[in-house]
Amino acid sequence: MNRAVFLDRDGTLNREVNYLADPAQLELLPGVAEGLARLAQNQWLLCVVTNQSGVARGILSEATLAEIHGHLRELLANEGVTLDWIGHCPHHPEHGTPALRQACNCRKPEPGLLLRAAADLDIDLTRSWMVGDSARDLEAGRSAGCRSILVGTGNGARTFEAMETDERESLLNAPDFPGAADLILAGPVSPERA
Ligand SMILES: [Mg+2]
Ligand SMILES: [Zn+2]
Repeated sequence: MNRAVFLDRDGTLNREVNYLADPAQLELLPGVAEGLARLAQNQWLLCVVTNQSGVARGILSEATLAEIHGHLRELLANEGVTLDWIGHCPHHPEHGTPALRQACNCRKPEPGLLLRAAADLDIDLTRSWMVGDSARDLEAGRSAGCRSILVGTGNGARTFEAMETDERESLLNAPDFPGAADLILAGPVSPERA
């Protein structure tokens, strides 16, 4: 079985903008490509799992989202990085067209996207990681059976501020994505630290 790093997109890999809806808005954060390259070199599959309720809300179409992800792949390919899987949740429980307005199992904190990637790529979730900047990323990782790392980029600082003391004590966090890659590449940590 394979092992993977599940990657939140906005605020983790690229600069957070409210409802990114144009490929031109996509800006990789410093050190992200290099951190992904190091993980790939060490046999970690790279799987992007992203909530895109902007689709349900009519802010962007599936076609535009596909263009954005094509551009993300292109920016990373320029740095020698290939993403193994990109999955998105287009739904929202309260907003949008009837087809997309639903309480789905793929909108993080639900683990559906991670479970789908695991089925597609034969991933051992217990040996895998989730990296993100929001509490729902951490929870999706935990629900899927992965360990999770909070990054300080995007909404990460705000996420940390909002945590209870006991949550912070059991948290694994890193200033940014390259720091998260360092933690993952440093090897096993005890389960209670994740
Ligand atoms: Mg995010
Ligand atoms: Zn969904």
